[in-house]
Amino acid sequence: MDLKKEVVFGGVAAAPGTKNQGWCPIPGTDCVLPVTVVNGAGEGKTVLITSAIHGCEYPSIEAVFRFAETVDPAQVTGQIVIVNPVNVDGFLTRTPYLVPRDGKNLNRLFPGDPEGSLGDRIAWVLTEEFQKKCDFHLDTHGGDIPESQFSYAYYPGVGEYPEALRIARESADYVLNAEFVVKSAAINHAYNYATLIGIPSLMLELGQTGTWSEEEVRQYLENIENVLRWLKVLPGEAMKRQKPVRDITRGVYLDAEASGRWYPFVTREDTVKAGQKIGEIRDLFGKVLKEYYAEFDGIVLMVTVSLAVREGDPILSYGA
Ligand SMILES: [Zn+2]
Repeated sequence: MDLKKEVVFGGVAAAPGTKNQGWCPIPGTDCVLPVTVVNGAGEGKTVLITSAIHGCEYPSIEAVFRFAETVDPAQVTGQIVIVNPVNVDGFLTRTPYLVPRDGKNLNRLFPGDPEGSLGDRIAWVLTEEFQKKCDFHLDTHGGDIPESQFSYAYYPGVGEYPEALRIARESADYVLNAEFVVKSAAINHAYNYATLIGIPSLMLELGQTGTWSEEEVRQYLENIENVLRWLKVLPGEAMKRQKPVRDITRGVYLDAEASGRWYPFVTREDTVKAGQKIGEIRDLFGKVLKEYYAEFDGIVLMVTVSLAVREGDPILSYGA
């Protein structure tokens, strides 16, 4: 006899075989997160899906909106918990990268701080109320308004839980539309932090420069649903990606060391050679403030294409 119970995430409860949507408060603030809890009819894994940790990465955000609206609890084995948009203010105010109220990049704040500013508190709630109650975390991104990039699956590359790292890496093979699979050495991003505490995770990137299309949303949904099939949370056979992709295991992620004018000398289609000049930042009178050179031979994964750049913002990444 199946005695599946009600589940509660961030204060939003759902009875077995039902879906419920509601708001999760961020203590000490007036901010609330939109949460969808899908409690499947049968027992199975709990998968957390997040989007809009960066508020303007639209193909992912729209795909996750549609998934939350259409997913049928009768088709779900286990639980799917969706938080989208995580950075509500960033989404509504069209602010790239940052939480508008504190100017912080939410995806550098994990595991967060319950006494910190809004971004720290959102990260804390996401960690405590959601990640720690899940078996897998799928975080969805894309190129933000100033970014041109490929489609990737990022998998966590550091941590003390080899089984979580193995599952994370294997799940990347089920992201059908990835052009690159990239091992990450970061620790304070949402998905990396999940795996640091033993929960396998994956970060998807698709789309760029503040645009979105039906085709990108379709591809994004295909990726999400295929990973959910691989996790046995949705019915049907998961397809392993057939298209060979490069597995990038060494990456450089450059952040601007000054505010001003950004001139990249490469595009995302380019390969770079060790020692090659790849970009520079100039001040508002044209004086060169910072110059950037490739450390090794590789391929450009992401390049910021906006003329204006602010200190601390991503400007270029390449890998091999
Ligand atoms: Zn992002």
